[in-house]
Amino acid sequence: MKNMTELFGTMVFNDSAMQARLPKEIYKQVQLSIKEGKRLNSETANVVANAMKDWAIEKGVTHFTHWFQPMTGITAEKHDSFITPIEGGRVIMEFSGKELIQGEPDASSFPNGGLRATFEARGYTAWDPTSYAFIKDGVLCIPTAFCSYSGEALDKKTPLLRSMEAINRQCLRVLKLFGNENVVSVRPTVGPEQEYFLIDKEMYAKRKDIMYTGRTLFGARPPKGQELEDHYFGTIKPRVAAFMGELDEELWKLGVLAKTEHNEAAPAQHELAPIYTTNNIAADHNQITMELMQKLARKYDMVCLLHEKPFEGVNGSGKHNNWSLTTNTGVNLFEPGETPYENAQFLTMLCAVIKAVDDYQDMLRVSVASAANDHRLGAAEAPPAIVSIYVGDEISEILDAVEKGAAYVGKEKEQIKVGVHVLPKFPKDTTDRNRTSPFAFTGNKFEFRMTGSSASISSCNVVINTAVAESLRQFADELEGSDDFERDLHSLLSRVIRDHKRIIFNGNGYGEEWVKEAESRGLLNLATTPDCSPYYLHEKNVELFERHRVYTEMELAARYKMKLDTYSKVLHIEALTMREMVHQDILPAVSSYSKLLADTVISKKAIGVDAEFEQETARRLSSLIRETALEAESLENAVDEVETITECYTRAMAYKNEVLPAMEALRETVDTLETLTAKSCWPYPCYGDILFSVK
Ligand code: ADP
Ligand code: MG
Repeated sequence: MKNMTELFGTMVFNDSAMQARLPKEIYKQVQLSIKEGKRLNSETANVVANAMKDWAIEKGVTHFTHWFQPMTGITAEKHDSFITPIEGGRVIMEFSGKELIQGEPDASSFPNGGLRATFEARGYTAWDPTSYAFIKDGVLCIPTAFCSYSGEALDKKTPLLRSMEAINRQCLRVLKLFGNENVVSVRPTVGPEQEYFLIDKEMYAKRKDIMYTGRTLFGARPPKGQELEDHYFGTIKPRVAAFMGELDEELWKLGVLAKTEHNEAAPAQHELAPIYTTNNIAADHNQITMELMQKLARKYDMVCLLHEKPFEGVNGSGKHNNWSLTTNTGVNLFEPGETPYENAQFLTMLCAVIKAVDDYQDMLRVSVASAANDHRLGAAEAPPAIVSIYVGDEISEILDAVEKGAAYVGKEKEQIKVGVHVLPKFPKDTTDRNRTSPFAFTGNKFEFRMTGSSASISSCNVVINTAVAESLRQFADELEGSDDFERDLHSLLSRVIRDHKRIIFNGNGYGEEWVKEAESRGLLNLATTPDCSPYYLHEKNVELFERHRVYTEMELAARYKMKLDTYSKVLHIEALTMREMVHQDILPAVSSYSKLLADTVISKKAIGVDAEFEQETARRLSSLIRETALEAESLENAVDEVETITECYTRAMAYKNEVLPAMEALRETVDTLETLTAKSCWPYPCYGDILFSVK
């Protein structure tokens, strides 16, 4: 057994590495830069870079990269070596402060939604000193933000860092009102629970659809799915256990706090949860985790699927985004307090979130939108596409009492007069877990459950941070300068609860009734990506992000365009893949099988034996073959027509309305064909083969 405590963080240029290797004065400056975002001067940067290089070289590293997160949602890197030529045809290993702080990847081909004209195609990467440099695959990776020369964010990290500043600013204003004089910074903390599938490499190699699109586009459901619920938290198979063990170890070396690994609800589905950390670091770590999962799975002859819905009729994968706010003094702001005073602050924070979720339901929905996640949301396995917040019955009652200024009858049936100065002491652990809520208060944090498994967690946290910052801004504006804080706070909270309680829903989010109820409450139900994307451009949202300097209108417009373009591209690839599978594999295979049946009919009849089954099946297959061919043709025509549309919204809508239904129709017919065709003739492994492939 290796010594895990010694292993932890060995591949990270973390605080202790810096402390050990940097002169005291320089170390102090780096700390200051991390804590207060102060830029390092070039002299200091040179010393840090040099120490970092020496540390890396000792570990056999020869290259470095500015590691960044373009808007594709995955990470990018371009490797440069430390080699610098010197006189006499020799080289030395060098790494300057300039190279550490700023890079210029020639990354003009990343999607940018029109933010970069080709003449200014180059962007630059800037070091994020709050996220430690690390060594991955023998390369020194420097976490960076990626911007255009005119300063527009071309990545997922820049807006996240901006949103963290926004919530810090506004939170400090509110905390001051409660007398927290020694709090100087507030940070969002995030712990993302990552779901994924593991399938055997051989099965993967035989499925064009999974290879090209990450999901099965055809496939009849297996007789055994997840209905027995015997996989959830079940024994982990040896190959999977070995994979998980190595994954943990590699993550620990990289300073990622991988904590729990277990099986999930669907066969072949698993989950990894890390211990929470500061938002931007959590986002970096989640990217590293996804990357390592995919890489290590290969080593064990498996493939890790991060797609949100790899198998129809089987639960898909999400990423629960646990979110809270922590002060530099170590206080979790969503921990219900011990004293009435702390409780007033807690209630204020809680109301800020409730209001934020209501005011920006649309942006929360947009933040998790993708063609893949559309299959999951609302399919009674993940939260519906309707955003709501769960606080539990007990807190609901308390909020009710605050709203009405009435008495709250607690568990002990004692009457408590609710006024800000005598708020009730909250019963701990009132978190009767509601797994169907998109945004659930779980005792001392919130769990946002709509995020897809493959998505970067930056997108949703940008929205959560900024929307809550806005609530807090309004609260601070109203309360700063009040001459009777308690009275004014109470009336503010009471008003916020009255205006926003429609967003609170403690019931079953999977039920049909909720859809109706939500509609009558005036909540949005944005089923698909094209439906919700236009909200990027709504005035109130542009105003929100501009006010808090998180996104400019131009940056939002770019993201709007990219979201829709990506949606269309995904459906385009899926449709083409279906077509190829139908024409190259499925129709020829079924045709051969029909011939086999026909031959049997002839042979049987020749000796006077009944061949009704074979004849009937051949007949059914023939007519289904015809249907399949026709449906494939309709799909092709639909794609051709939609591809002529150039405007991004109209095109995405057409993909949703014309192409997607054609894909579904084709799938249905092909899945019927699969059930009628001999397994030996079917060109692909079936669902059962894939889902139970890892022994
Ligand atoms: P679950 O039952 O949903 O698995 P856990 O209590 O195990 O709940 O926590 C799930 C995730 O929530 C973990 O990643 C954990 O680190 C994270 N978490 C716990 N507290 C906080 C917090 N204050 N801020 C952010 N995430 C948190
Ligand atoms: Mg959870």
